[in-house]
Amino acid sequence: MAVQERTKVLIRCRKCGERYTLRGRRGAHGKIETGFKQCLCNNDDDFEVMEQP
Ligand SMILES: [Zn+2]
Repeated sequence: MAVQERTKVLIRCRKCGERYTLRGRRGAHGKIETGFKQCLCNNDDDFEVMEQP
């Protein structure tokens, strides 16, 4: 059984509005993991994460 599924993820910084499109993986608990660390504005925890179809 596959517990991880590759997906395309749009990450938007809530502080400066910068957007990043990344490949991610959806883990077993529905959490999307991308390896994304932080935005150019040094924000590292306030993001909107949207999974792309
Ligand atoms: Zn930012």
